[in-house]
Amino acid sequence: MGASQPGGPSLPQERRLVTAIPGPKSVELMERRNKAVARGVSTTLPVFVTRSGGGVVEDVDGNSLIDFGSGIAVTSVGNSAEAVVRRATEQLQRFTHTCFMVTPYDSYVAVAEQLNELTPGDHEKRTALFNSGAEAVENAVKIARAYTKRTAVVVFDHGYHGRTNLTMALTAKNMPYKESFGPFAPEVYRVPVAYPFRWLTGAENCADEAAAAAIDAVTKQIGAHNVAAVVIEPILGEGGFIEPAKGFLPKIVEFCRENGIVFVADEIQTGFCRTGEWFACDDEGIVPDLITTAKGIAGGLPLAAVTGRAEIMDAAHAGGLGGTYGGNPVACAAALGAIETMRAHDLNGAAQRIGEVMKGRLNTIAEKNPAIGEVRGRGAMIAIELVKPGTKEPAADYAGAIAKACHAEGLLVLTAGTYGNVLRFLPPLVMPEHLLVEGLDILEKAIAQVTA
Ligand SMILES: *Cc1c(COP(=O)(O)O)cnc(C)c1O
Repeated sequence: MGASQPGGPSLPQERRLVTAIPGPKSVELMERRNKAVARGVSTTLPVFVTRSGGGVVEDVDGNSLIDFGSGIAVTSVGNSAEAVVRRATEQLQRFTHTCFMVTPYDSYVAVAEQLNELTPGDHEKRTALFNSGAEAVENAVKIARAYTKRTAVVVFDHGYHGRTNLTMALTAKNMPYKESFGPFAPEVYRVPVAYPFRWLTGAENCADEAAAAAIDAVTKQIGAHNVAAVVIEPILGEGGFIEPAKGFLPKIVEFCRENGIVFVADEIQTGFCRTGEWFACDDEGIVPDLITTAKGIAGGLPLAAVTGRAEIMDAAHAGGLGGTYGGNPVACAAALGAIETMRAHDLNGAAQRIGEVMKGRLNTIAEKNPAIGEVRGRGAMIAIELVKPGTKEPAADYAGAIAKACHAEGLLVLTAGTYGNVLRFLPPLVMPEHLLVEGLDILEKAIAQVTA
């Protein structure tokens, strides 16, 4: 690892395959796992990890894989980043838990201060901490309902917000998230989102037409005065890294302002330098009323937050928000370490550089390969959408086969998308560039092989 790397375990920053993937020890552990762990909890790449840091994941068989996943956009600062380990360890040795609602501690307050400062807008803000992204989204809805004294919640096609009962209702895709798990929470309404690649009248009409369709659905089917919150990911993550056409988000924000609706940006996947800015909303200067964060916030420890306008956040009565573990002191210390790392090592700049390298390379590949319908995303949140050549018909079989071929060569990639036809890349922002390039080499070969 170079001198500019923010530490972590000093693993050789190399791809190294010494067995087939998965190797024999992983296969054995997988058999044990299948007897002990519920089937519903699935596995993308069945190699069992021993260590991870920088841009690699090492497994029990001695293989070293290039990581284009970051544990789903979580270890943006790298695994076991120096400042995360230092601060969390120090906290572990002093105390592990008191419950902030019983007796408080200052790291919770410090995380809230950091979030209030870093999130878009210079208005007065408040923050509440939770354990998971879904829990943050649920609480954002609770807060918006308390503030507006309304009940309806508007979400979008291709949206993903979690797996709890309310957030399943907010999530668009049935399989695997919702199938057989209903009934779902009421007063949730889904409207169109500006998905340029699949907009029927063309990408150039997408922002205006999608905003008009969404607003029309809200006014005619729900009544704007009944809507507590509009919840949207500024880049839709699980839905396939869909960047809403420029102009769409500002129109939705304006509609919310005019109608007293709380605009909630779900930045759980896009936040904390992932897109090359602190938050994806910064791209179009969007200032959300509430913002939910999790994933990249704490270098791998479970932490989530709702941050927003003081008057909205404070609408929930004393005792109305919280939870036993929310804002756990070790997770808070880790978050302060992660944020310290992002600032000290300019991880926004690092994400921008990753985006340039990836998009440059992927666009070149796409020019020659009609199976790649689109290359999109920002910073270190990049995806390709695969189609049957010459059409826009989703090609989920390509995405699955390319992912498998990459895994076999020691490159961890993830799929996504409502149609399962998107390959998404979320490398740690501290990945050395030679690994990024090597990963792209493997990917290029896999794409060529599968689509030949
Ligand atoms: C992952 C994710 C969630 C859910 O977070 P969990 O920590 O898995 O509950 C919610 N919203 C978005 C945009 C996500 O990417």
